[in-house]
Amino acid sequence: MNLRVSLCFQYYDIGGVYINFGGGDVMSRILVTGGAGFLGTHLCEKLLGGGHEVCCADNFYTGAERNIKHLLSNPGFELIRHDVIKPLYLEVDEIYNLACPASPIHYQLDPIQTLRTNVNGAINMLDLAKRIGAKIFQASSSEVYGDPEVHPQPESYWGRVDPVCMRSCYIEGKRCAETLFFSYHRQHGLQIKVGRIFNTYGPRLHPNDGRVISNFIVQALKGDDITIYGTGQQTRSFCYVEDLVKGVIRLMEAPTDVTGPVNLGSSCETTIAQLAERVLALTGSPSKLVYLPLPKDDPQQRQPEIDRARTLLDWQPKVMLDDGLKQTISYFEHLLCKGIDAGP
Ligand code: NAD
Ligand code: UDP
Repeated sequence: MNLRVSLCFQYYDIGGVYINFGGGDVMSRILVTGGAGFLGTHLCEKLLGGGHEVCCADNFYTGAERNIKHLLSNPGFELIRHDVIKPLYLEVDEIYNLACPASPIHYQLDPIQTLRTNVNGAINMLDLAKRIGAKIFQASSSEVYGDPEVHPQPESYWGRVDPVCMRSCYIEGKRCAETLFFSYHRQHGLQIKVGRIFNTYGPRLHPNDGRVISNFIVQALKGDDITIYGTGQQTRSFCYVEDLVKGVIRLMEAPTDVTGPVNLGSSCETTIAQLAERVLALTGSPSKLVYLPLPKDDPQQRQPEIDRARTLLDWQPKVMLDDGLKQTISYFEHLLCKGIDAGP
């Protein structure tokens, strides 16, 4: 497919003078890195719906062209193929830094690239924010807590992380990015917002990236075995994407002194075995449950404490797991009907 790649908002440095080729009468001009990924596309949509102009920068490492096809005809939407490990020169009012593969199999495929994306990407986006005076949001992760021994996890908990484990390229990358954000804030006075996102699901999850909700739904719809890793007694707290994106925007729009970190996620915890049962019930699938070995370094428990988000952002998730699963199942039914290979 031919994607429209635009130079709108691009600044050209001509003898030290910046020339703006973009702009117009809009509420805000907003850069979303990783905007062609699962969360990024929902965020772009929501920002466009709010009357903003959105520039999506993505290298399509895990993002899919089908995710943003419907946005390309929107005059407020622009796409730049760009790798955040390289500097970016453009002018916007706000930056949402989401670029980074999120599923364990994707981020472990090339751990050095994952670290570069998190560390060099954060530096490049922070340098851009500093240059143009933009406010900047960092998509951090519940993974910064590692395999926690405090439950549920408040933002004040420092985490339990093995710096040389299989997940550490992602975990330490995210931790370093948080450190960078707070260093730029203290040293240069940047307006920063750090959101620690917990497991999120919904339409446009990548069908092949091995995350549990996409795996289970695709397996159920195809009548394949449902693959439970370990005993299935490990827990996660799943937040529907629509709720999550609202929380992310609330944090960006919060007063300047609200820098975060703020946990964003559902406090409704479920075991992986319970999740499998819900997917079977909602799809009416004859699939059988099979138990496979637990991947190395898989955290046992995860649930955010979201008091800070409730108090500072007046935010908490509203969509119940069954309702969100129904929406996600419809999406994957549609994807499978269209013949896209959705096998995990
Ligand atoms: P995703 O893999 O669907 O999307 C990530 C996007 O970033 C993709 O479009 C990918 O092509 C792009 N990208 C990756 N490396 C890049 C690079 N070097 N330069 C430019 N673009 C690059 O993941 P997602 O679920 O949408 O996650 C988005 C962000 O939220 C990530 O930073 C992730 O760590 C964070 N997060 C997500 C979850 C979740 O449950 N989905 C949980 C915690 C944190
Ligand atoms: N999981 C599973 N079967 C699958 C995929 C994942 O049992 O087909 C488990 C996985 O081991 C983990 C949980 O589901 O305990 C959530 O996995 P996911 O990769 O979605 O997210 P993360 O581990 O990053 O929270």
